[in-house]
Amino acid sequence: MSVDVPATSSPSSPPSDRPRPVSIVPPGATIGILGGGQLGRMTALAARHMGYRVATLDPVPDAPCAQVADHRFTAHLDDAIAARRLAAVCDVVTYEFENVAAPVAAALEEAALVRPSSRVLAVSQDRVREKETFAALGLPVAPFRPVTSWPELEASVGVVGYPCLLKTATGGYDGKGQRWLHGPDDLSTAWEWATSHGSGCGDRGKGESARRFILEARVPFVRELSVIVARNPQGETAVYPVAENIHRRGILHVSIVPARVSAGVASRAQEFAVRLAHGLDAVGVLGLELFLTGDEVLYVNEFAPRPHNSGHYTIEACVTSQFQQHVRTVCGLPVGSTALLRPAVMVNLLGQHMSRMQASLGRLLRVEGVHLHVYGKSEARRDRKMGHVTIIAESVEEALEGAQQVWDLVRAPDDPPHVA
Ligand code: AMP
Repeated sequence: MSVDVPATSSPSSPPSDRPRPVSIVPPGATIGILGGGQLGRMTALAARHMGYRVATLDPVPDAPCAQVADHRFTAHLDDAIAARRLAAVCDVVTYEFENVAAPVAAALEEAALVRPSSRVLAVSQDRVREKETFAALGLPVAPFRPVTSWPELEASVGVVGYPCLLKTATGGYDGKGQRWLHGPDDLSTAWEWATSHGSGCGDRGKGESARRFILEARVPFVRELSVIVARNPQGETAVYPVAENIHRRGILHVSIVPARVSAGVASRAQEFAVRLAHGLDAVGVLGLELFLTGDEVLYVNEFAPRPHNSGHYTIEACVTSQFQQHVRTVCGLPVGSTALLRPAVMVNLLGQHMSRMQASLGRLLRVEGVHLHVYGKSEARRDRKMGHVTIIAESVEEALEGAQQVWDLVRAPDDPPHVA
């Protein structure tokens, strides 16, 4: 069920955008979600609120998204035949992770409306292409060089300088698949690492393995930031407040919103996200990650063409959640307001936090402004994202106090005592 209507122009459309027919997918239709994790689950819940039906594909029959979907397909995520079966029952297909194999993306696009497009996926799957795209759009990036061989590594270090970071071009996620080089003594060990372990960092990371790398100069950042932006097929955009993110062991730990940065920094970060969404002709929600240095210089690091962990706060703290926004935009509907209702702090709950969370539920749920989300994963493995907590309050300081109370209840023995 989808209807073609001429697009209307909007104030946020770039001037070059000409009206073109756009497929609108109305409530009652079926949205397909490739991947069954928590991002799919929260997207599915938002879709069901709006009267859509949801079909999902994941290798695990009881995956978080499958638990709340109308139709479940159980197959590996790179099974093109299964993807085609999913597409056959859907009016539009989206995904909750970016490393959709190219043949699967092609199979989906042959059989259904797919948003965002495989072109956007392809940029996000490869760090070299991603950084080149940022640079072409005039977004500030740390000096970088693609590396595929030892001579290229030696030459690139000469250009980029020390300290620098060698990352797999594809396959890395949550800080995996990267190696620091502090000086010439690290060169040969970094290359040994690259040639032995440097590729294939899991099936949810940036694409499939290949001996391709990117060497990046170190950004001496004081804050890590992110911005969620939504764009519909008509070219209308909506950008969220900037989040300040704290990672532990390469995994997002806390998001603080609004980020404690100047208004100028926040609006520049938002403008970069909007420019990227237009530049990619992206449809759906995307999350852009940035670094901020002590002298207020911003660098764009990477993006994900889907709802983002650092945007979970939008469920309670914004007029329109990132998940509802994803549904609206992939269905060709108007974007919703991104206004912040209350400051918020989000804390991720990992496998090692779950037993203490369960044991302290009575106290946890009495923390002022707390909202608990649990994703329904059966096995609470260490560092696995199992749920999150969002605390909304009158100020960031109060929200941080609530987050500290939650953290005191759930933190594992080897976690630091301070939440942020
Ligand atoms: P990424 O996989 O690109 O998100 O990187 C994971 C983490 O490594 C980031 O959250 C940063 O803490 C750090 N990092 C990545 N790239 C750089 C860089 N160019 N300079 C400094 N730190 C970096």
